[in-house]
Amino acid sequence: MKSKKSILLLTVVLTVLLIAAVSFSGCLDSDGHDHDHGDPNATYDPLDNESLNSVLNGSKILVAASVVPQTEFIEKVGGDNVIAISMIPAGAGHTYDPSPRQLEDLSKADLYMQLGSDEPFETNNMKTFIEMNQNMTVINSSDGITLIQSGSSTDPHIWTSPKCAIIMVENTYKGLAAIDPANESYYRANADAYIEELEAFDAELTTELSDLSSRNFMVYHPAWGYFARDYNLTQISVEVDGKEPAPKDITKFINIAKENNISVIFVQEQVSITGATAIAEGFGGEVYIIDPLAKNYVENMRYVGQVLAEKMS
Ligand SMILES: [Zn+2]
Repeated sequence: MKSKKSILLLTVVLTVLLIAAVSFSGCLDSDGHDHDHGDPNATYDPLDNESLNSVLNGSKILVAASVVPQTEFIEKVGGDNVIAISMIPAGAGHTYDPSPRQLEDLSKADLYMQLGSDEPFETNNMKTFIEMNQNMTVINSSDGITLIQSGSSTDPHIWTSPKCAIIMVENTYKGLAAIDPANESYYRANADAYIEELEAFDAELTTELSDLSSRNFMVYHPAWGYFARDYNLTQISVEVDGKEPAPKDITKFINIAKENNISVIFVQEQVSITGATAIAEGFGGEVYIIDPLAKNYVENMRYVGQVLAEKMS
Protein backbone atom coordinates (compact mmCIF):
# COMPACT_ATOMS: atom_id res chain seq x y z
CA MET A 1 0.00 0.00 0.00
CA LYS A 2 2.76 2.32 1.07
CA SER A 3 4.87 1.59 -2.02
CA LYS A 4 1.87 2.02 -4.32
CA LYS A 5 1.35 5.45 -2.82
CA SER A 6 5.04 6.24 -3.37
CA ILE A 7 4.81 5.13 -6.98
CA LEU A 8 1.70 7.23 -7.47
CA LEU A 9 3.40 10.21 -5.86
CA LEU A 10 6.50 9.67 -7.99
CA THR A 11 4.36 9.49 -11.14
CA VAL A 12 2.61 12.73 -10.23
CA VAL A 13 5.92 14.46 -9.53
CA LEU A 14 7.44 13.23 -12.80
CA THR A 15 4.37 14.30 -14.77
CA VAL A 16 4.50 17.77 -13.23
CA LEU A 17 8.21 18.01 -14.01
CA LEU A 18 7.61 16.85 -17.57
CA ILE A 19 4.84 19.40 -18.10
CA ALA A 20 7.06 22.07 -16.58
CA ALA A 21 9.99 21.07 -18.78
CA VAL A 22 7.85 21.12 -21.92
CA SER A 23 6.21 24.45 -21.14
CA PHE A 24 9.51 26.08 -20.11
CA SER A 25 11.60 24.72 -22.98
CA GLY A 26 9.55 26.74 -25.46
CA CYS A 27 11.08 29.87 -23.94
CA LEU A 28 14.70 28.82 -23.96
CA ASP A 29 17.36 29.87 -26.40
CA SER A 30 19.95 27.41 -27.63
CA ASP A 31 22.31 28.50 -24.86
CA GLY A 32 19.67 27.60 -22.28
CA HIS A 33 18.94 31.22 -21.48
CA ASP A 34 15.75 33.00 -22.15
CA HIS A 35 16.60 36.65 -22.03
CA ASP A 36 13.28 38.27 -22.69
CA HIS A 37 10.75 36.01 -24.35
CA GLY A 38 10.89 37.86 -27.66
CA ASP A 39 8.66 36.54 -30.39
CA PRO A 40 10.79 34.04 -32.39
CA ASN A 41 8.69 34.82 -35.48
CA ALA A 42 9.30 38.55 -35.41
CA THR A 43 10.86 39.63 -38.69
CA TYR A 44 12.62 42.70 -40.02
CA ASP A 45 10.73 44.72 -42.59
CA PRO A 46 13.37 45.55 -45.25
CA LEU A 47 13.73 49.01 -46.77
CA ASP A 48 11.47 49.46 -49.78
CA ASN A 49 12.92 50.52 -53.15
CA GLU A 50 11.96 54.16 -52.79
CA SER A 51 13.65 54.43 -49.39
CA LEU A 52 16.67 52.53 -50.63
CA ASN A 53 17.03 54.85 -53.65
CA SER A 54 16.72 57.97 -51.53
CA VAL A 55 19.55 56.67 -49.33
CA LEU A 56 21.69 55.66 -52.30
CA ASN A 57 21.25 59.00 -54.11
CA GLY A 58 22.04 60.90 -50.90
CA SER A 59 18.67 62.62 -50.48
CA LYS A 60 18.06 60.82 -47.16
CA ILE A 61 20.29 59.77 -44.27
CA LEU A 62 19.89 56.18 -43.09
CA VAL A 63 20.05 55.92 -39.30
CA ALA A 64 20.06 52.54 -37.59
CA ALA A 65 19.29 51.83 -33.95
CA SER A 66 18.79 48.76 -31.79
CA VAL A 67 15.17 49.06 -30.58
CA VAL A 68 11.95 50.40 -32.11
CA PRO A 69 11.37 53.35 -29.71
CA GLN A 70 14.71 54.79 -30.87
CA THR A 71 13.35 55.02 -34.43
CA GLU A 72 10.68 57.38 -33.08
CA PHE A 73 13.39 59.59 -31.52
CA ILE A 74 15.41 59.54 -34.77
CA GLU A 75 12.40 60.48 -36.89
CA LYS A 76 11.35 63.24 -34.48
CA VAL A 77 14.81 64.85 -34.65
CA GLY A 78 15.69 64.01 -38.26
CA GLY A 79 12.30 64.81 -39.75
CA ASP A 80 12.16 64.50 -43.53
CA ASN A 81 15.92 64.09 -43.82
CA VAL A 82 16.14 60.63 -42.33
CA ILE A 83 15.04 57.02 -42.64
CA ALA A 84 15.28 55.10 -39.37
CA ILE A 85 15.57 51.32 -38.99
CA SER A 86 15.51 49.21 -35.84
CA MET A 87 17.88 46.27 -35.98
CA ILE A 88 15.77 44.41 -33.39
CA PRO A 89 12.38 44.25 -35.15
CA ALA A 90 9.13 44.94 -33.32
CA GLY A 91 8.35 42.00 -31.03
CA ALA A 92 11.82 40.41 -31.11
CA GLY A 93 14.05 40.07 -28.07
CA HIS A 94 17.53 40.85 -26.80
CA THR A 95 19.07 37.80 -28.45
CA TYR A 96 17.60 38.38 -31.91
CA ASP A 97 19.89 37.45 -34.81
CA PRO A 98 19.86 39.93 -37.71
CA SER A 99 19.03 38.49 -41.14
CA PRO A 100 21.35 38.85 -44.18
CA ARG A 101 18.83 41.24 -45.81
CA GLN A 102 18.97 43.39 -42.72
CA LEU A 103 22.77 43.50 -42.77
CA GLU A 104 22.52 44.63 -46.40
CA ASP A 105 20.40 47.61 -45.30
CA LEU A 106 22.75 48.29 -42.40
CA SER A 107 25.72 48.39 -44.75
CA LYS A 108 24.18 51.61 -46.20
CA ALA A 109 23.59 53.31 -42.83
CA ASP A 110 25.31 56.62 -42.12
CA LEU A 111 24.75 56.59 -38.37
CA TYR A 112 24.10 54.02 -35.63
CA MET A 113 22.47 55.17 -32.41
CA GLN A 114 23.85 52.54 -30.06
CA LEU A 115 22.01 51.99 -26.77
CA GLY A 116 25.40 51.60 -25.10
CA SER A 117 23.84 50.03 -22.00
CA ASP A 118 25.21 46.48 -22.33
CA GLU A 119 22.23 45.57 -24.49
CA PRO A 120 22.90 41.86 -25.29
CA PHE A 121 21.98 42.40 -28.95
CA GLU A 122 24.69 45.07 -29.22
CA THR A 123 27.23 43.00 -27.30
CA ASN A 124 26.62 40.19 -29.80
CA ASN A 125 26.54 42.27 -32.99
CA MET A 126 28.09 45.75 -32.79
CA LYS A 127 31.58 44.58 -33.69
CA THR A 128 30.27 42.95 -36.89
CA PHE A 129 28.15 46.01 -37.75
CA ILE A 130 31.14 48.33 -37.41
CA GLU A 131 33.41 46.01 -39.39
CA MET A 132 30.97 45.70 -42.27
CA ASN A 133 30.17 49.44 -42.46
CA GLN A 134 33.24 51.46 -41.68
CA ASN A 135 31.66 54.69 -42.96
CA MET A 136 29.00 54.51 -40.25
CA THR A 137 29.30 56.95 -37.33
CA VAL A 138 28.40 55.31 -34.00
CA ILE A 139 26.92 57.48 -31.25
CA ASN A 140 26.26 56.31 -27.71
CA SER A 141 22.64 57.02 -26.70
CA SER A 142 23.48 56.41 -23.02
CA ASP A 143 25.99 59.25 -22.85
CA GLY A 144 24.82 61.31 -19.86
CA ILE A 145 22.51 58.61 -18.43
CA THR A 146 23.40 57.02 -15.09
CA LEU A 147 23.16 53.33 -15.88
CA ILE A 148 21.63 50.85 -13.46
CA GLN A 149 23.90 48.02 -12.43
CA SER A 150 22.06 44.71 -12.36
CA GLY A 151 24.22 41.98 -10.88
CA SER A 152 27.42 41.78 -12.90
CA SER A 153 25.91 43.59 -15.90
CA THR A 154 23.89 46.69 -16.74
CA ASP A 155 20.14 47.01 -17.15
CA PRO A 156 19.91 47.68 -20.92
CA HIS A 157 16.36 49.14 -20.99
CA ILE A 158 17.26 52.85 -20.80
CA TRP A 159 14.45 53.95 -23.14
CA THR A 160 11.58 53.03 -20.79
CA SER A 161 12.15 56.16 -18.70
CA PRO A 162 11.00 59.42 -20.34
CA LYS A 163 13.76 61.18 -18.35
CA CYS A 164 16.32 58.96 -20.10
CA ALA A 165 14.48 59.42 -23.41
CA ILE A 166 15.12 63.18 -23.19
CA ILE A 167 18.88 62.50 -22.98
CA MET A 168 18.63 59.93 -25.80
CA VAL A 169 16.92 62.52 -28.01
CA GLU A 170 19.67 65.04 -27.23
CA ASN A 171 22.27 62.41 -28.20
CA THR A 172 20.34 61.72 -31.40
CA TYR A 173 20.57 65.43 -32.21
CA LYS A 174 24.35 65.32 -31.59
CA GLY A 175 24.70 62.35 -33.94
CA LEU A 176 22.70 63.93 -36.76
CA ALA A 177 24.42 67.31 -36.35
CA ALA A 178 27.81 65.56 -36.50
CA ILE A 179 27.15 63.72 -39.76
CA ASP A 180 25.07 66.45 -41.43
CA PRO A 181 26.27 69.83 -40.09
CA ALA A 182 24.57 71.68 -42.96
CA ASN A 183 21.20 70.90 -41.37
CA GLU A 184 22.24 71.36 -37.75
CA SER A 185 19.71 74.11 -37.02
CA TYR A 186 16.86 72.02 -38.44
CA TYR A 187 17.80 69.10 -36.14
CA ARG A 188 18.20 71.49 -33.18
CA ALA A 189 14.71 72.92 -33.68
CA ASN A 190 13.18 69.45 -34.08
CA ALA A 191 14.97 68.13 -31.00
CA ASP A 192 13.93 71.18 -28.93
CA ALA A 193 10.28 70.73 -29.89
CA TYR A 194 10.27 67.03 -29.04
CA ILE A 195 12.23 67.52 -25.81
CA GLU A 196 9.66 70.14 -24.79
CA GLU A 197 6.91 67.58 -25.36
CA LEU A 198 8.85 64.93 -23.39
CA GLU A 199 9.50 67.34 -20.51
CA ALA A 200 5.81 68.21 -20.29
CA PHE A 201 4.98 64.52 -20.32
CA ASP A 202 7.61 63.80 -17.66
CA ALA A 203 6.02 66.44 -15.40
CA GLU A 204 2.57 64.94 -16.04
CA LEU A 205 3.84 61.44 -15.21
CA THR A 206 5.63 62.62 -12.05
CA THR A 207 2.37 64.14 -10.77
CA GLU A 208 0.29 61.13 -11.80
CA LEU A 209 2.57 58.67 -9.98
CA SER A 210 3.46 60.86 -7.00
CA ASP A 211 0.87 59.78 -4.48
CA LEU A 212 0.11 56.16 -5.23
CA SER A 213 -0.64 54.16 -2.10
CA SER A 214 1.62 51.32 -3.31
CA ARG A 215 5.00 52.06 -4.91
CA ASN A 216 5.80 48.45 -5.80
CA PHE A 217 4.81 46.81 -9.04
CA MET A 218 5.39 43.29 -10.28
CA VAL A 219 6.52 42.60 -13.84
CA TYR A 220 7.40 39.51 -15.77
CA HIS A 221 10.45 40.73 -17.70
CA PRO A 222 12.38 43.51 -15.89
CA ALA A 223 12.14 46.13 -18.66
CA TRP A 224 11.02 48.97 -16.36
CA GLY A 225 14.05 49.51 -14.10
CA TYR A 226 14.82 53.05 -15.33
CA PHE A 227 11.15 53.98 -15.28
CA ALA A 228 10.90 52.73 -11.68
CA ARG A 229 14.07 54.55 -10.60
CA ASP A 230 13.05 57.85 -12.18
CA TYR A 231 9.51 57.89 -10.77
CA ASN A 232 10.36 56.54 -7.35
CA LEU A 233 8.76 53.12 -7.81
CA THR A 234 10.05 49.59 -7.18
CA GLN A 235 10.00 46.98 -9.92
CA ILE A 236 9.76 43.38 -8.72
CA SER A 237 10.63 41.00 -11.54
CA VAL A 238 9.18 37.51 -11.69
CA GLU A 239 11.58 36.28 -14.36
CA VAL A 240 14.51 34.60 -12.63
CA ASP A 241 17.86 34.76 -14.48
CA GLY A 242 15.97 35.20 -17.72
CA LYS A 243 13.87 32.10 -17.11
CA GLU A 244 10.30 31.29 -16.15
CA PRO A 245 9.86 31.13 -12.37
CA ALA A 246 10.14 27.59 -10.96
CA PRO A 247 7.29 26.30 -8.77
CA LYS A 248 9.19 27.29 -5.59
CA ASP A 249 9.66 30.81 -7.00
CA ILE A 250 5.95 31.03 -7.79
CA THR A 251 5.13 30.49 -4.11
CA LYS A 252 7.77 33.06 -3.15
CA PHE A 253 6.35 35.69 -5.54
CA ILE A 254 2.79 35.04 -4.39
CA ASN A 255 3.95 35.87 -0.86
CA ILE A 256 5.88 38.93 -2.00
CA ALA A 257 2.80 40.17 -3.87
CA LYS A 258 0.61 39.69 -0.79
CA GLU A 259 3.13 41.40 1.51
CA ASN A 260 3.45 44.37 -0.84
CA ASN A 261 -0.25 44.78 -1.53
CA ILE A 262 0.27 44.11 -5.24
CA SER A 263 -2.82 43.46 -7.34
CA VAL A 264 -1.40 43.00 -10.82
CA ILE A 265 1.53 41.53 -12.75
CA PHE A 266 2.54 43.39 -15.88
CA VAL A 267 3.71 41.34 -18.83
CA GLN A 268 4.87 42.21 -22.32
CA GLU A 269 3.05 41.25 -25.44
CA GLN A 270 4.07 37.92 -26.96
CA VAL A 271 5.58 36.57 -23.76
CA SER A 272 4.89 33.23 -22.20
CA ILE A 273 2.75 34.13 -19.21
CA THR A 274 2.35 30.70 -17.61
CA GLY A 275 4.36 31.65 -14.53
CA ALA A 276 2.84 35.13 -14.29
CA THR A 277 -0.67 33.69 -14.51
CA ALA A 278 0.08 31.12 -11.80
CA ILE A 279 1.38 33.86 -9.50
CA ALA A 280 -1.55 36.18 -10.22
CA GLU A 281 -3.99 33.35 -9.45
CA GLY A 282 -2.10 32.71 -6.22
CA PHE A 283 -2.67 36.19 -4.87
CA GLY A 284 -6.01 36.78 -6.54
CA GLY A 285 -4.65 39.43 -8.90
CA GLU A 286 -4.62 39.93 -12.65
CA VAL A 287 -2.12 39.84 -15.51
CA TYR A 288 -1.94 43.04 -17.51
CA ILE A 289 -0.07 43.72 -20.78
CA ILE A 290 2.12 46.80 -21.17
CA ASP A 291 4.58 47.25 -24.04
CA PRO A 292 8.12 48.57 -23.48
CA LEU A 293 8.91 48.52 -27.21
CA ALA A 294 6.09 50.45 -28.89
CA LYS A 295 7.02 53.06 -31.50
CA ASN A 296 4.53 55.79 -30.56
CA TYR A 297 6.61 56.65 -27.52
CA VAL A 298 4.69 59.36 -25.65
CA GLU A 299 1.29 57.86 -26.39
CA ASN A 300 2.42 54.41 -25.25
CA MET A 301 4.19 55.65 -22.13
CA ARG A 302 1.17 57.77 -21.22
CA TYR A 303 -0.92 54.59 -21.38
CA VAL A 304 1.65 52.76 -19.20
CA GLY A 305 1.50 55.59 -16.64
CA GLN A 306 -2.29 55.49 -16.58
CA VAL A 307 -2.38 51.72 -16.14
CA LEU A 308 0.18 51.84 -13.30
CA ALA A 309 -1.66 54.70 -11.60
CA GLU A 310 -4.97 52.88 -11.89
CA LYS A 311 -3.68 49.48 -10.74
CA MET A 312 -1.47 50.78 -7.91
CA SER A 313 -3.74 53.39 -6.36
ZN1 LIG B 1 14.20 43.39 -22.16
